[in-house]
Amino acid sequence: MAQIEVTEESLHRAVDEAVFAQAVTLADKVAGFSAVGPQVEAIVDGIEVSVRVSPSGLDARCACPAPYREGAPCPHAVAAVLTWVRAGPDPAAGLRAGLDDVLAGLAAEAADCDPDDGWYPDTGELEDLLDEVEDLAGQEPDAARELAGHVAARVTEVLAAGNCLTDDLADALARAAELRGTPPDA
Ligand SMILES: [Zn+2]
Repeated sequence: MAQIEVTEESLHRAVDEAVFAQAVTLADKVAGFSAVGPQVEAIVDGIEVSVRVSPSGLDARCACPAPYREGAPCPHAVAAVLTWVRAGPDPAAGLRAGLDDVLAGLAAEAADCDPDDGWYPDTGELEDLLDEVEDLAGQEPDAARELAGHVAARVTEVLAAGNCLTDDLADALARAAELRGTPPDA
């Protein structure tokens, strides 16, 4: 996933001065903030807002009554993005999105396979991403453990869904379980 360069300064330049000033005040009232890649969700001063940050601007959905105008997000949306910018890059979120893509692909293959024939899952991409989880464990051990637990749970489901003919997925599960820090059947 490409990293989108947004800074407090570029955000400031991109929006109306008055909107930015309101957003700075509202940034202290941001709760329930979460970001998966460039998709930011937050509750700003009690109002639910979701913003997708893209190179062409902010695509905002907000529950406030401010009329939506192209390229002119409301202060809540700008406050949510401001929080996102101030939080800095989140390697765990990007990694999670990548893992979810790969795991969804494997789950679809498992669901499609003929139980009599079985299938040979290609776990190459999953192994590469598990390498990244291992790297992340050096910087953010809690986030890495949480991700590994997520992977272990999903792989367990995939294994149950299809007649898997190789040990690759079981190996990936064992690795995820190890990264999580507990044995597979604990
Ligand atoms: Zn709003």
